[in-house]
Amino acid sequence: MDTTAELGVVEYEKYGRLLADPIMGLAQFARSVGRFPYALAVSGRDGVFLETDGFSMVNFGSNDYLGLATDETVVDAAVQATLRWGAGASGSRLFAGDLTLHSAFEQALADFLGKEAALVFPTGYTANLGLIAALTRPREDVFVDASVHASIRDGIRLAHGRARSFRHNDAQSLLDVSAGSKPGSLCIVEGLYSTHGDVAPLPELVAVARQRQFILVVDEAHGIGTLGDRGAGAGNLQGSLPDIDVITMTFSKALASCGGAIVGEHGLIEALRLTSRPFMFTASNTPATLAAASRALEILIAKPELVSRTAGLARTLGRQLAQRNLPVHVGAGPILALETGTDAQTFQAWNRLVDQGFYTNPVIAPAVPENHGILRLSVTAAHSDQQLVELSDACESLGDLFHCDQQTEGSGHRRSPSR
Ligand code: PMP
Repeated sequence: MDTTAELGVVEYEKYGRLLADPIMGLAQFARSVGRFPYALAVSGRDGVFLETDGFSMVNFGSNDYLGLATDETVVDAAVQATLRWGAGASGSRLFAGDLTLHSAFEQALADFLGKEAALVFPTGYTANLGLIAALTRPREDVFVDASVHASIRDGIRLAHGRARSFRHNDAQSLLDVSAGSKPGSLCIVEGLYSTHGDVAPLPELVAVARQRQFILVVDEAHGIGTLGDRGAGAGNLQGSLPDIDVITMTFSKALASCGGAIVGEHGLIEALRLTSRPFMFTASNTPATLAAASRALEILIAKPELVSRTAGLARTLGRQLAQRNLPVHVGAGPILALETGTDAQTFQAWNRLVDQGFYTNPVIAPAVPENHGILRLSVTAAHSDQQLVELSDACESLGDLFHCDQQTEGSGHRRSPSR
C-alpha cells in the first residue's frame, strides 16, 4: 500500500476546501519555476543581510525602513523591558495586561501625530479590524480606495458592512461613488501604498471627505517614518495631518517592532477601549515589543534625517534602474516596483536575483492585476550606495524578464491595483 498517496487522499477529503483554493495551484506553479518565494525560513539576520538555506542575501524586501530593528538601543530597550516586566504581559489589556508602558507610548504617538489620544493594539491588522468593526453597522457603506490593505477589507467583513471601492487615488471617483451617502460614513485610504509606493492625494480626498461629512481614516502603516519632514506620514508630507480624523498604523515597519495603533480624538479612543472586540479579546503587546517601538519612535523624532536618507537612497536606486532601461516605478518613499508581467516572469526574475544574492518581494495577482506582476523593492536607511549599484547591475543582467515598454518615474500618484 502506498501510505503517502493514501494519506494524501484522506487529507484531501478532510481539508478539501482549502486544497481547492486557487492559491494552492499557484503555489505549485511557483515551486515548478524554482525556489518557493513565500514564507522563506530565515535562519539568520544581520542588518540588511538575511540568511536562508545556508546562504546570505541583501534584503531589498524589508519593511524595517529606517534600519532600526537591529539598532543597539532599540534592542537594549526590548531587553531591559523584558527584564523589568517579564516576557509577556500576563493578560489582555482589559484584565491586568494594561501596562504603564502602553499609556506612555500611546501619549507619545498622539503627540507625534498632533492628535489627542491613541490606542495600542497587538498588530496593525487588529488595529484596523478594531476601528472599522466598532464604527460600522451591518450593511453600512464604507468607502475605500480600491487598493486598500486586506486588514481594512477584513474589518468591513467583520462588521458585515459593505465595501464601496473608488478608483485608486482618484478623488473624483470617490465623489461619484459616494453620491447620496450618509454623513458620518467611514472613508479609508492608505497614506503610502505598499506595492508600488504611491502616495494618496490627501488634500483632494480631504475636500471630498468634508463635502460628504465622512470620517476620514488614513492607514499610515508604510508612511510613518518614511514620508514628511518629521516622518509623520503622508499627512505630514502634504500638510493634511490636522484634516485627518483617524490614523491607523503599525509598529512592524519603520518602528522596527510589532504592534499597531489607532490615533485620533479622545472620545473615540475611550469608546474603542470598551467596544472594540479585536482590542478586548486578544492578548496584550509584549513589554519587549512596546519598549522597542517606543525607542524607535524616539530615534525617529531625534533623527528625522533618517527619513530623508531612506527616500534619497530610493530615488538613487530608481534613477539607476531607469538609466539601465528597466521599467521602474518610483514613489515618494522607500518603495519601488519593477514591472515583471506574468507570474512565470515574476517568479523567474525573483529566482535569478536570489541567485545573485538579492531578496525582493514578488507580487502577483490578486495583489496586482493579472499579468502585471512586479518585484517590490524597498530601500532602508541601512543600505549602502554600493549595494544599490550591485542590485541595479543584477537587475540589468536579467533585463529580458522585465516589461521594457513602460517607464514611470517620480509620479507619487500612479495607479495601483486592487487587493
Ligand atoms: N495596513 C497596511 C497598509 C499594511 O501594509 C499592513 C501590513 N503589511 C497592515 C496594515 C498590518 O500591519 P501589521 O503587520 O502590524 O499587522
